[in-house]
Amino acid sequence: MGTVTSAIVVGGGIAGPVAAMALQKAGIAATVYEGHDGFADGVGGALSIAPNGRTALAAIDADHVVERVGTPMSGMVMQSWTGKRLAEFGSFEDLPAMQLVWRHELYRALYDEAVARGIRIEHGKRLTSLHGGTVRFADGAGAEADVVIGADGIRSTVRRLIDPSAPEPRYVGLFGFGARCSGRGVPPTGDRMHLVFGRRAFFGYQVTDGGDGGWFVNLPSKDPSSGAGNTPAQWLPILADAFAGDRIPAVELIRRTDPADLVVTGGLEDIASVPV
Ligand SMILES: Cc1cc2nc3c(=O)[nH]c(=O)nc-3n(C[C@H](O)[C@H](O)[C@H](O)COP(=O)(O)OP(=O)(O)OC[C@H]3O[C@@H](n4cnc5c(N)ncnc54)[C@H](O)[C@@H]3O)c2cc1C
Repeated sequence: MGTVTSAIVVGGGIAGPVAAMALQKAGIAATVYEGHDGFADGVGGALSIAPNGRTALAAIDADHVVERVGTPMSGMVMQSWTGKRLAEFGSFEDLPAMQLVWRHELYRALYDEAVARGIRIEHGKRLTSLHGGTVRFADGAGAEADVVIGADGIRSTVRRLIDPSAPEPRYVGLFGFGARCSGRGVPPTGDRMHLVFGRRAFFGYQVTDGGDGGWFVNLPSKDPSSGAGNTPAQWLPILADAFAGDRIPAVELIRRTDPADLVVTGGLEDIASVPV
């Protein structure tokens, strides 16, 4: 293989702009092609960037981006539905602390950082075919580079084109939800996330000393399409019911949540290791 000097990155979500910045640092000019016309502002729930993710971002001088939008998390407390502490995980002294971020804020911060570094991100370019380093988009346009990198998510078209027999995402039997709410009056967890094995569902929450609350639920459901027509206002009492009797502040936090702030992630999926 000759020297690689140019790359196409398919997908402008979380991984795409980061891959492009890493390529740029290695002296490879990358252009990102995103299928959607617009930005993903406001899309998605919260996630935590673990020390390995932060170390990877530090390798491309982009860790400050996460620090700007994140809230440090010094550890996690595992609890049973009775409130009993089962285990506690802290941070490692020699590694950066976990950071809790909203996906849309992380997305926008990484996007802006990539653009500020001179990386071109084109929108409305949905990849439909791929032959070597030549790609075609749904709008009829094409592009060519030495390498093509798929950063197009869990239903990656790039992956399917490279290996039509690659494993597909599989539903893991859980429905996901998350929200911000006021945690005023609820005992603060400080900078620790509490993860609770409720009797009927799994609950994660954090309440800062200043009273900002955030939570997520993994609700078991055999059918990934059940409740598909529910509005957020219909989901909230269903979620509160799932924690009735559990000795944790789940019901209280769910009741304080404005339906407009509920993120319904839907059926949670994972994907087996890909052979190619
Ligand atoms: C409820 C939930 C909680 C999570 N919690 C955590 C957590 O705590 N910590 C953690 O590290 N991760 C977490 N994750 C996972 C994390 O969100 C994903 O791993 C991450 O968003 C994946 O980024 P990505 O760039 O690979 O894909 P995406 O963010 O999905 O981006 C893919 C991009 O590719 C574009 N695209 C798709 N097809 C095409 C095409 N054909 N042509 C052009 N563009 C295309 C899409 O429009 C999109 O912009 C969580 C996920 C969920 C759902």
